Amino acid sequence: MQATMLSIPDLIKKKRDGNALSDDDIQFFLQAVVENNIQEAQTGAMLMAIFMKGMVATETMALTKAMKLSGEVLSWPEEWAGLVVDKHSTGGVGDKVSLVLAPALAACGLKVPMISGRGLSHTGGTLDKLESIPGFNVSQPFPKLRSILAEVGCVIVGQTVSLVPADRILYALRDATSTVESLPLITGSIISKKAAESLNSLVLDVKFGRSAICKDLASAKALGESLVTAGNNLGMNTRAVFTHMSNPIGRCIGNSVEVIESLETLKGKGPSDLMELVSTLGGVLLVMTGKVSSLSEGGRLITESVTGGAALAKFQAMMVAQGVSNENAQSLCSAQADYHRILRRADHQTELRTHTQGVVMEIDGLVLAEVLHQLGAGRTNAGEPINHSVGAELLVSLGESVNKGRPWLRIHFESPALTPDQTSRLEGALTLGGSGDKPLRGSLIEDMIPPM
Ligand code: URA
Repeated sequence: MQATMLSIPDLIKKKRDGNALSDDDIQFFLQAVVENNIQEAQTGAMLMAIFMKGMVATETMALTKAMKLSGEVLSWPEEWAGLVVDKHSTGGVGDKVSLVLAPALAACGLKVPMISGRGLSHTGGTLDKLESIPGFNVSQPFPKLRSILAEVGCVIVGQTVSLVPADRILYALRDATSTVESLPLITGSIISKKAAESLNSLVLDVKFGRSAICKDLASAKALGESLVTAGNNLGMNTRAVFTHMSNPIGRCIGNSVEVIESLETLKGKGPSDLMELVSTLGGVLLVMTGKVSSLSEGGRLITESVTGGAALAKFQAMMVAQGVSNENAQSLCSAQADYHRILRRADHQTELRTHTQGVVMEIDGLVLAEVLHQLGAGRTNAGEPINHSVGAELLVSLGESVNKGRPWLRIHFESPALTPDQTSRLEGALTLGGSGDKPLRGSLIEDMIPPM
């Protein structure tokens, strides 16, 4: 016989007093949320109770599962069994890994239904980057998504209205009630969406450092372990890589400038830090899917798919399948592409110059991202428009010796214009050291929860 259900105020009280909610409690609460049988104040109160008291692993599991089942769960043809994969990043500055990794994985024979997000606050979003390409359509109905996967092997789209509706409601209320930074709520939100994609394998890029949500490795590990546990418990082979996120990734930050850098990378001319992330995360997925038996072999295959042009061909096919004209896709992927014939260039550019000579020790990605956000490259609230052509290009590399007066940063802007205060913040983002100094950073990869 089913136990009598508690009322919503009793459920809130149970959590408020530090008790664990049962699976039935959590299902009842989420059903009320999705069916709108609960006052927003009650949902907010429950979110705050979860935020303050936390959840044990079984509660987080029940929450994640109930969120996944709140909407449509995708299904794939049997012949793709074991091959359906995705990557999720906790967000960074200049993080264009998805644009290179999705086609590289497709070139290695995997199926990549990448459901990505838009930029919020200082972190950029893959969908915004892709939308700087005229015609690129990130909302594809499921039958079309499946046919693109069949033909091309990768597709990058936004979340549909029918996928995990509970998350859309809870996320908006978490924002409004200052309950975003809660391990069980973040875990439920991220893993429910990935589980609703019916993935076989998922790799998480859990970033830490000044420009990341997690400021240190310990908090990144706590988040990574919670995500990996929930993913595996929901039947999705899940692993995590812990990566440094202080200096920007690559040399470009912004939307259309990051598309250009991604295309250059797909033509074999990418920065080494970006390629390290792509080959490591891709290598982990190739091991998880049994395509290779070691991480080094996996990394090598991914790198070869990029340097040999197979990943570029997949990216071109994906662009066409998602609405870009054949002519523009071909032109963007040609060896001597005139990118700004197709991707709008901002009306104004300005270069900042070094005030002294020295060795480039650090470039504060967070400061760059915050100023670009103010210039219109990002949004503060969901749904706000952005300016795809606003961005920045680093003109120097870590460890490089530079003379006084050397241009080190090019800013692309329109309206609003760059203010003297923003210029001085940007100038403070560059740290130069003495002639014998070397930047601390070697590899971006700090650690991982490795594939077995
Ligand atoms: N990304 C999500 O989708 N949800 C969170 O809670 C945090 C990051």
